[in-house]
Parts: sequence; C-alpha cells; structure tokens
Amino acid sequence: MTDPIYKTDALIAQDIDAYLSQHQHKSLLRFITCGSVDDGKSTLIGRLLYDSKMIFEDQLTALEADSKRVGTQGEEIDFALLVDGLAAEREQGITIDVAYRFFTTEKRKFIVADTPGHEQYTRNMVTGASTADLAVILIDARKGVLTQTRRHSYLANLVGIRHIVLAVNKMDLVDYSRDIFETIVSEYRDFAGSIGITDFVAIPISGFRGDNITTLSSNTPWYEGPPLMDHLESVEVDNSADQAKPLRLPVQWVNRPNLDFRGFSGLIASGTVKPGDAIRVLPSGKTSSVSRIVTLDGDLDEAVAGQSVTLCLADEIDCSRGDVIAAADNPSQVADQFEATIVWMADEALKPGRAYWLKLGTQMVSATVQAPKYEINVNTMEHLAAKTLDLNAIGVAELATDRPVVFEPYAENRTLGGFILVDKISNATVAAGMLHFSLRRAQNVH
Ligand code: GDP
Repeated sequence: MTDPIYKTDALIAQDIDAYLSQHQHKSLLRFITCGSVDDGKSTLIGRLLYDSKMIFEDQLTALEADSKRVGTQGEEIDFALLVDGLAAEREQGITIDVAYRFFTTEKRKFIVADTPGHEQYTRNMVTGASTADLAVILIDARKGVLTQTRRHSYLANLVGIRHIVLAVNKMDLVDYSRDIFETIVSEYRDFAGSIGITDFVAIPISGFRGDNITTLSSNTPWYEGPPLMDHLESVEVDNSADQAKPLRLPVQWVNRPNLDFRGFSGLIASGTVKPGDAIRVLPSGKTSSVSRIVTLDGDLDEAVAGQSVTLCLADEIDCSRGDVIAAADNPSQVADQFEATIVWMADEALKPGRAYWLKLGTQMVSATVQAPKYEINVNTMEHLAAKTLDLNAIGVAELATDRPVVFEPYAENRTLGGFILVDKISNATVAAGMLHFSLRRAQNVH
C-alpha cells in the first residue's frame, strides 16, 4: 500500500527543519487562522506575508497583475490571490493535508498552518501534525459570533492551544464602529468563559485595508491594544514543558545507507536525549542505549523536543517505522482499546463498526469506532445522544485497534495522543481525534 501520510510528515519535517535552521537565533511561533468561508483568512495570511516582505519580487509582480485581472477588490492587491496561488503549487502534492507558510520578521519566525480546502479548516486544529501555540479566530464584523466561531474556539481549547486572538475583521465594512467591536467582544467573552478560555486578545482589523495589522490604524483611535503583528511577535510561548517530559521519538524511517550504519530517524516529540541514555523500543519493549545522535550538521551531545535527529543504538534490536523510542524507565503506554474525542470532518457520516485507518504519530493501524457515547453541542456545551457523527460533529466514542499502539493521553502528549482516521477506500481524512485513556492495556508489554 502506498502511504501518503508518512511521506507528507517526512517532507514537512524536512521543510520545517531547513527553515528553522536558517533563523536559529529567533524564537518560533506556530499559529493557525480559523474562521468560516470568506471571513478573510487567505487575505490576512497574504497580508502578513506581504508586510513581512517575505514574498519574492516576481511573485509580487504576478500578484499585482492577477489582482487587476481576477481580483475581487478592483485595482488593489487582493492578498487572497497570493495564498490561493500558493495553493496551486501545493496541490501538486495532493497528499498534503496541512500546508505550512513560513515567514520571518526581525523579531521572530512564524509557521502558519493553512489548509487547501475551505471546508476542511478544522483539520489543522486537531491533527497530530498541528502543534500551534496560538489561534487567530477570525470574525466578520458584519456577522458577529457564529456557531463556527464557537466550534473553532472549542477545538482550539480542546487541542491545548493556549493563546487565542479574536480578530474582528472587515472593520472597514462597519465604519470602524467601536460599538460593533465591543458588542462582539463581549458576546465572545461570555462564551469563552463557558468553555474555560480565560484569556484572549481582541483586535479590530481589516486584513484587506491593513488596519491594525503591522501598525495602529488611525481609523480606530479608540483601540488601545497592539497591532496584530506586534502581538504575534511578542506573545510568550513556553516550550520548556515538552522538554521536561520523558523522551518520545516516533520513528519516521529507518536510515540504513549501508551495512555499517543503522539509525532511526524522526522528530523528538518530547524530552531530551544524550548518547549513553537507556531507551526502550515500543511496542516490543526491547531495551538498548543511544550510541550516537546524528544530524546533517554532525553528531550532537544532546537533542531536545522539536529537533529532527537520527539515533544509533548500541545493540542490534528490532525497531521499525511506527515504533516509538522512549525513555527506558518511563515508557509510553501500549493499548488497543480507547476512549477518544472525535471530530468528524467528512460529508459521509461515521459508520460505527467499519474499519478505518488510524494514524497516530508515525503509526498506522486498522481501527473501528463504536457508536458515540454522546455528541457535544458547541453552542450550549450540552451532551446529546447520537447514533453517529455527521460533518463537523464532535463526540466522545470508544474505539478499538487491530493491534496494540503506543500512545499517551492527549493532555500529556499531543503527538502520541492525537490521531486522524482515514477512509480505506477513498484515502481521505475523515476525522481527527484525541485519545483520553485506554480501556484495555496490551498484555506482555508494561
Ligand atoms: P477566506 O475564505 O476566509 O480565506 O476569505 P478570503 O481571504 O478569501 O476573503 C473573502 C472575501 O472577503 C474576499 O473578497 C476578500 O477580498 C474580502 N475581505 C477579506 N478581508 C477583508 C477586509 O478586511 N475588508 C474587506 N472589505 N474585505 C475583505
């Protein structure tokens, strides 16, 4: 079977590595933009890319020409075209679920997750691939807080994104009205409090006109906070928590160029590793120790969460793609039955009992989901009885895998607790989810 998802992860990891190493001295912020169709996500991302001057000259010239031809905004530059133009390029690699845009300013480097299809934006927020620090929740000032806004905020909170920006967009279309802005913010505050979001920053913007994006706008003299870019540049993100956790390295591929070298490559999901450290390969439970940490720039004395490395082990033990290299004295759990929160993302509803591919970290197994225990109403937070999950529904259900998987509760480790479900026939991603706990641990493995 061809395996597009693994390849995608590997490619993304390589891209991200190349980008990160170019700007090593700057701190990183990963963020996502959420909103309904036409709220202005593409325009905002295009504007941020444009204002950070990371667009190549020739792309800009093409953009100006395209805006005149097909833009929705007269003769002015239509920033949405920029992102859509980039979309054409990424569509050549059809397998990419989540696309990443990289840009840097003098102060910081950024990765913004972006999705190819308008309907599929929730996917960003819940796949294991997405490790956003911050979510920009876009609201069209003319429409106010919608069910989508509530759903995205709920998901952002659920997946552990700690920083929320409420960007009230298209302020130019409501005459930069302070009243409208404040009514929206106050309605959002009531809702946010009810789902446990205690803190958010609200900014009145026009992605299209550029108000409060990189500089404060004279159209909103009543607004006292920072422009969006300043906030993105200065919000503090603490990644030290991931490093303090035990070592987890989901093996992406086995690197064996010749008989003398055998290394296990992947992105360190949590913890730190040094040569000499005792490790345990899961799910087999075999132990060994690290002999070398190899990277393209030479061997390392230590590597930490977020780095892509190749580990060589002191012993010739079995270890293949999908396995997890873990701290020997503090390994992950191995189980084949779970309770999970599932976000359904396909037009065709969940079929309880049917087998889907479940992708978790670098593992891929066959899994069946039972009828949900309940569905969550994102407007009221009520639990509703449900027989299945329809498009965009969020529910809690039990699932079983055909063989044991290495996992951790999502709250403790996003990489080993977040999963996606893939339809076995169409190969489309149909759901994303978070494992809460196991209902049955595998025998014979701790
Ligand atoms: P997306 O579907 O969320 O990516 O939305 P787009 O970025 O494609 O924007 C949808 C439409 O709204 C386009 O016609 C944009 O030009 C327009 N738009 C986006 N932001 C603004 C804004 O701040 N002001 C105005 N007037 N139009 C905007």
